[in-house]
Amino acid sequence: MDKLVYLFGGGRTDGSAEMKELLGGKGANLAEMARLGIPVPPGFTITTEVCRYYIEHGGRYPSGLEDQVKEGVKHLEEATGRSFGDPENPLLVSVRSGAPVSMPGMMDTILNLGLNDESVKGLARKTSPRFAYDAYRRLLAMYGSVVLGVKDEGGAGVDPFDAAMEELKRERGAASDLDLTADDLAELVARYKELIRKAGKEFPQDPHEQLWGAIGAVFSSWDNERARIYRRLNRIPDTLGTAVNVQAMVFGNLGENSGTGVAFTRDPATGENRFYGEYLLNAQGEDVVAGIRTPKPISELERDMPQVYRQLLEVREKLERHYRDMQDIEFTIEEGKLYLLQTRTGKRTGFAAVRIAVEMVEEGLITEKEAILRIDPAEQLSQLLQPIFDPAEKAKAKVLAKGLPAGPGAATGRIALTAEEAVRLEKEGQPVILVRHETSPEDIQGMAVAKGILTSRGGMTSHAAVVARQIGKVAVVGCDGLNVDYEKREISAGGVTLKEGDWISIDGTTGEVLEGKVPTMASEVVQVLIEETLAPEEAPVYRLYEKLMTWVDQYRVLGVRANADEPDQARVALAFGAEGIGLCRTEHMFFGEDRIPYVQQAIIGRDPAARKEALERLGKMQAEDFEGLLRVMDGKPVIIRLLDPPMHEFLPKDDAEIAELAKRFGLDKEELKAQIESLHEFNPMLGHRGCRLGITHPDLYDMQVAAIFRAAAALRKEGLDPKPYVMVPLVGHVNEMRAVRERIDEIARRTMEEEGVEIAYKVGTMIEVPRAAITADEIAQAAEFFSFGTNDLTQMTFGYSRDDAGKFIQEYLKSKILPDDPFQTLDRKGVGELMKMGKEKGRSTRPDLSVGICGEHGGESRSVHFCHEIGLDYVSASPYRIPVARLAAAQAALKG
Ligand code: PEP
Ligand code: MG
Repeated sequence: MDKLVYLFGGGRTDGSAEMKELLGGKGANLAEMARLGIPVPPGFTITTEVCRYYIEHGGRYPSGLEDQVKEGVKHLEEATGRSFGDPENPLLVSVRSGAPVSMPGMMDTILNLGLNDESVKGLARKTSPRFAYDAYRRLLAMYGSVVLGVKDEGGAGVDPFDAAMEELKRERGAASDLDLTADDLAELVARYKELIRKAGKEFPQDPHEQLWGAIGAVFSSWDNERARIYRRLNRIPDTLGTAVNVQAMVFGNLGENSGTGVAFTRDPATGENRFYGEYLLNAQGEDVVAGIRTPKPISELERDMPQVYRQLLEVREKLERHYRDMQDIEFTIEEGKLYLLQTRTGKRTGFAAVRIAVEMVEEGLITEKEAILRIDPAEQLSQLLQPIFDPAEKAKAKVLAKGLPAGPGAATGRIALTAEEAVRLEKEGQPVILVRHETSPEDIQGMAVAKGILTSRGGMTSHAAVVARQIGKVAVVGCDGLNVDYEKREISAGGVTLKEGDWISIDGTTGEVLEGKVPTMASEVVQVLIEETLAPEEAPVYRLYEKLMTWVDQYRVLGVRANADEPDQARVALAFGAEGIGLCRTEHMFFGEDRIPYVQQAIIGRDPAARKEALERLGKMQAEDFEGLLRVMDGKPVIIRLLDPPMHEFLPKDDAEIAELAKRFGLDKEELKAQIESLHEFNPMLGHRGCRLGITHPDLYDMQVAAIFRAAAALRKEGLDPKPYVMVPLVGHVNEMRAVRERIDEIARRTMEEEGVEIAYKVGTMIEVPRAAITADEIAQAAEFFSFGTNDLTQMTFGYSRDDAGKFIQEYLKSKILPDDPFQTLDRKGVGELMKMGKEKGRSTRPDLSVGICGEHGGESRSVHFCHEIGLDYVSASPYRIPVARLAAAQAALKG
């Protein structure tokens, strides 16, 4: 730790843009601008290393800092021709934080430092008394609260300096700060000093002492609560530390040939290549932000100050060419002279991110690879697919509660508290939001007709979340603040009670629940690809998306398939670029109104003939389902998974329903009830499900397998090329796989013989029980492909129930016991290690074994990266996450 202070501007610059870790973003970019010959006020940066030292050593500084800061001040004095504490021509500085990662507004800043009772008079003579006393009172207020800790005593959260200002304005009858005279401001200075004194503190008159106070306060602010929370939310390590930038003040409020502004080198909302920003003449930076006066659009500066405007355009050009990305800049004009105070990579919407990246490739500024790497798949690309709230309308709506953003997009509709009510309302042509404690497979129809799904319980892989993403529904789940009362048929949140049938809106991108009807619209990409209501020529956003995705597909190595159960979902998946179906969950086909009675009969029927008939009927319907799916995906692999959930999920729970079922099948009600109770399980997720069911009730699987091959045969006879793959769920022992496999091959052979066609097929397994991963070499003897079911694999590896874990995972995340929700982002160390082992062991037995993933992680960027790293063949994701998976796969390939 030798060099602790880096100079910039005024003819000597030590740092550069590469040194962000050490100098923070602001310090590194100020140095870089100085190097580029862009005018910046001179200054120096104290490194982030000093911050770390300061925090670790209870507020002490490393040796050598004092001398180096002295050097820094000397550099400033020479560059400006002013000196610290000079009563005639004082040097004034700003002291600002600047971390390696932007943390806007989270840490402290002191402006106008260097003024005291003497130099304020000199400044008044040089500029004007009003200006000088305004600068001094701002310093006293900032220094008083930030450095000396003079805060509100009553605890009402009112800043005492603001209160004193308000009081003076009242006394003087002044409407705004601008109505106060120089004398008023001098009076305010006196009152501020009195405030500080009353708090038992003293404002230091010595500028060096002021400087050290400010430096310490800024370093300390790295650890304030606000900053810590911000870092946790944005996954910024606490160990980074902030740099401190000490810089000569320049003033935008020295008259009508001074001013200040902020600008983006391109439009941050749309990405359009135009200079976008605003400014105020005769104003300080904070006036633009505070909204006291309305700033003017940057284009008007051309009239007000043509020369400065031209210079700004040159800076814009220079910065974009140099940084090769859209920049967000702050500038000040002091008596006709332009200074840049900051440049940084500008934050942007998903739309702007895609447009800027694609257009910068076309302009030759960046390469295709760079464009691909710049777009966040989930946060930015997916914005292009989601229905959207009209932003102006949303701003007017009341936020009732916040839950987990499980299915991105915007939805608005009438509240339905049951699936039946959702179906009923939808039949009336009403848009519906299905609101439940949680959903279960029985709710599937209600979910299918709903515009959005809102639950008060459950996590990111709860039933509601998984199904919503798969069928492309907007969803907010696990919304703690929401109270759902099925009996009163009402919900309450945020102090508002709404009845079933009332309007509600949910934002699945942010997790917000909004009162009333907030209008939405389908995205352009969806209008072109899915609804086919818009021509590509009329859809500029779609064309950008298309171009980007063409590049993406050139670079990715991982295949991308879809989790889809129905032809419509498969069509959506294809439009989004799916190369096959990685998981068809056949149980979803069993819940239709026309099917459930036969499923129930097949499960509980006593009469063998009636059971057989029920199975035959189901077989016919399943064959139609599979035919539809295989037809849409012609020529592409379709992995069909045999029945997975525990049987009692298909049976009624309450008395009236049981009575009705008994009547329908001519059974004794009590006997039926006892039978249903006998199917009850304490832990159904670890119970009689998956291949365990297939082994104990082989006729169910037989029926499904026959249906698959009948469907494939019918298509083959039409001259199509069906590629059915049969997948066995929940295998944990090779003997399970062998037993089920034998029957599958037998039924397949028989069916193909009956139909008189040969169809190439494969039989494989989910790897979702830890033992399956551990014994994958054995299992691969009987399985021709693997698909990691990481929902169950995570559940069983951690021992967390995927339906209940939401309750404590939030707490675990807050207290940093877990870095991420493992049901959302794949746990590399545990679950990931099992996957690696499973893949390697499987391939040791069968080198050409195809290995993929079909758990929810297959559509999550960081998990997709991991799948690429360990060499899986493909990921399978719900249809609306397929573009995300494609982009993430390309990024993983490019990062290597
Ligand atoms: C899984 O467990 O990851 C999986 C895809 O199966 P399901 O979610 O249907 O249990
Ligand atoms: Mg599973």
